[in-house]
Amino acid sequence: MPEMPEVESLRRFLTERCVGRTVARVDLAAFTALKTYDPPLTALHGLPISQVRRRGKFLAMDCQGLWLVFHLARAGWLRWREELPSTPPRPGKGPLALRVTLDDDSGFELTEAGTTRKLAVHVVTDPEQVPHIASLGPDPMDDDFTPEVLGEILGRAGRAQLKGVLRDQRLIAGIGNAYSDEILHAARLSPYKPANSLDEAGVSALYGVLRHELSEAMRRAEGLAAKDLKGEKKLGMKVHGRTGQPCPVCGDTVREVSFHDSSLQYCPTCQTGGKPLADRRMSRLLK
Ligand SMILES: [Zn+2]
Repeated sequence: MPEMPEVESLRRFLTERCVGRTVARVDLAAFTALKTYDPPLTALHGLPISQVRRRGKFLAMDCQGLWLVFHLARAGWLRWREELPSTPPRPGKGPLALRVTLDDDSGFELTEAGTTRKLAVHVVTDPEQVPHIASLGPDPMDDDFTPEVLGEILGRAGRAQLKGVLRDQRLIAGIGNAYSDEILHAARLSPYKPANSLDEAGVSALYGVLRHELSEAMRRAEGLAAKDLKGEKKLGMKVHGRTGQPCPVCGDTVREVSFHDSSLQYCPTCQTGGKPLADRRMSRLLK
């Protein structure tokens, strides 16, 4: 899933290519992707694009006050095409969800791999009308996201586990499963550690690591074409998606805890005093 650094890079990519151009047409290929019906997609036809904004993992394209907002979800991606076919796509077949054609026939396609249908497209007059945007927490790269703000968020979260708190979009916007693994590894913290158990020095250390990891990821993603972002994200990971491989910091084996629809990775030596974390799914299976 693209997270804040990749989505921010897509925002810059789209800004360069789309701002100043006009939407020629928008074609919906996966009907379930469109979450709004009024205004219709056709209301975007002929409108100039003035800016592309990001809120958390959402992208919002401003077409003279009418916004095309989308969220790529876990299996979604954006594919830029210098020249799009002139015939509209056939709905319901393949990974294509939405195609946006600009006035010079270039444009982009939103695609979703596999069978999950989570990719979401909205047409609104204000991005805040999208419920999941209205409920987003602060952006961790904003200037006013200070160590104090992080401290308050962690304090309010009580005994909730750090892993869940970092990726809860209502608490902090834009961090998902991958970067929360990476941040906790770099901060040498257990994913299960209760959020309110960090003292002031602990919060400030986590804050430093969080900003560093995200800005490094943004730096790596900067200037990359949309098609190269996924590979770059994977290359930059130290523990996420690397179960069974050696931790690049200490050489211990990266371990995994599985949940019903996701998994987390961590290094026992770096993060949990050498002890493997309980894997509830595994222990249930062994009972
Ligand atoms: Zn390690």
